[in-house]
Amino acid sequence: MLKKIPEETIVRLSYYLRALLYFKEKETPIISSKRLADFLKISHHQLRKDLSYFGQFGRKGVGYSCSKLIESIRDILGLNREWSACVVGFGNLGRALSFYRGFKDEGIIIRAAFDINENKINKDYPHLKVYSLDKMEKVIKKENIQIGIIAVPKTAAEEAAKKLCTCGIKAIFNLAPVKLDVPKEIILKDVDLSCQLTSLTYHLKNLETKQ
Ligand code: NAD
Repeated sequence: MLKKIPEETIVRLSYYLRALLYFKEKETPIISSKRLADFLKISHHQLRKDLSYFGQFGRKGVGYSCSKLIESIRDILGLNREWSACVVGFGNLGRALSFYRGFKDEGIIIRAAFDINENKINKDYPHLKVYSLDKMEKVIKKENIQIGIIAVPKTAAEEAAKKLCTCGIKAIFNLAPVKLDVPKEIILKDVDLSCQLTSLTYHLKNLETKQ
């Protein structure tokens, strides 16, 4: 049976990968768990526990080979291949994500966008075209798209999710501030920057009351 791996561990792997790439660039071939953990301001126990879910890495008293651990983490995260994504809602957020180059570096390629606004549909950009919703099934199949990114107003999010699911999407990255009801085989991730920002305001408020 597969071990249940905490979602936080999976997210931290991306941070480990980023830090390892930094050290590799600085020509550090071997790195200790303590140095890597200190760099990321986490405990080295946490780092070792996270990695232990996936096997044995590095050598006791020596450390990790940056290159080998980079390769292993890329493999664990499925970053050694390309993944195709589409955006539903080509507004402020959808457009920004569609043109962000960083995803491509991770192997996630946004191949299409969908919108209901006639002024946006059929616009061609160098690596992306905006389609009407009735083209979704055909485009998702043709481009072998696995990930759907929802960036529509919250009132339209449930409908967008339903459509993505019936068109064969496997995973949804939901940016709309609403809890979606999707079939259990669909991998769903909600991301809300407002919640992260309000955790900042909580700390700021407490700082002010202490002063
Ligand atoms: P926007 O109004 O600029 O864009 C929304 C786009 O969705 C428009 O192009 C509109 O035509 C399109 N649309 C509307 N209904 C649709 C439908 N049924 N199918 C397809 N397209 C449809 O809005 P925005 O500022 O880009 O925000 C988009 C969403 O992202 C909102 O739900 C907003 O609350 C959310 N948001 C989330 C975060 C976050 O951190 N998760 C941050 C900012 C905004």
